[in-house]
Amino acid sequence: RVNRTDFMNALEEVHPAFGVAEEELQQVIQNGIIHYDTVVDELLRSGQLFVEQVRSSTRTPLVSVLLHGPPGAGKTALGASIAQASRFPFIKLISPDSMVGFSESQKVNAIQKVFSDSYKSPLSVIVVDNIERLIDWTPMGARFSNAVLQALLVLFARRPPKGRRLLILATSSLRSILTDIGFAETFDSELRVPPISSLAALEYVLREVELFTSTEERRAAVRTLRDSGIAGGSGEEGDDGMSSKLQIGIKKLLSVVEMARQEPDNVGQRLTGALMGLGM
Ligand code: ATP
Ligand code: MG
Repeated sequence: RVNRTDFMNALEEVHPAFGVAEEELQQVIQNGIIHYDTVVDELLRSGQLFVEQVRSSTRTPLVSVLLHGPPGAGKTALGASIAQASRFPFIKLISPDSMVGFSESQKVNAIQKVFSDSYKSPLSVIVVDNIERLIDWTPMGARFSNAVLQALLVLFARRPPKGRRLLILATSSLRSILTDIGFAETFDSELRVPPISSLAALEYVLREVELFTSTEERRAAVRTLRDSGIAGGSGEEGDDGMSSKLQIGIKKLLSVVEMARQEPDNVGQRLTGALMGLGM
């Protein structure tokens, strides 16, 4: 029998989880979302559609989406933004960063706790970040924690209790290994988060972060990059079938920008030097 006190206690239990999550989410979107390419808006829009699906469709109380793409492409920040924008009463991030030093069973317990907390809320979003690190994937010998993997597989397939709805947004840089271990099929949908591959997008970021004090300096830096052959203007494949060499995750680009900023007299050179030195 559930009485009013149990009900209030349940609310109490749910609420702090939400508070903590807000900070966590904010932290992973620290640098905001820069709309450097139409793909960014498309991804946010797709995310919003999944949120609406969970909110309004009684037939799909559970929707799981995999955000995958190369390291630093912005998967975590996008997942967190989509989650935050849902304004669902329960939003939580499951991140390997918060489980450093956990034993296998502590990890499994922590993950299970987030899911069981979510079942108390009518609408929930759980961001399961960096699956390969959650399962302790080791390329050497292709090892991983089977206990964590099995827990995730079960939780990703479990329908929430009646009247509860849940959106799972998972991220990974290693989609191929998820396929190999039979994880990829559990997702209802996938969104690919690409790296920045055009000079136009790169220039947009440079403008947005106000790295240069003048437009001319910024243009000059972009010209240097273009002349270096790092990328064509569009980032699309040329006639020779060679794709542009520019492939940089927004995370890496932002860190290169901050490095260049440290030397105010030489920003342009620091930036172009670092980008060309990345061996793209
Ligand atoms: P990793 O592969 O290491 O897990 P990631 O793909 O999850 O990296 P994030 O950790 O999300 O990348 O880093 C992206 C960073 O770039 C964040 O600091 C975020 O605030 C910032 N950012 C700016 N614009 C965007 C954007 N359009 N999309 C995603 N992140 C963005
Ligand atoms: Mg990430």
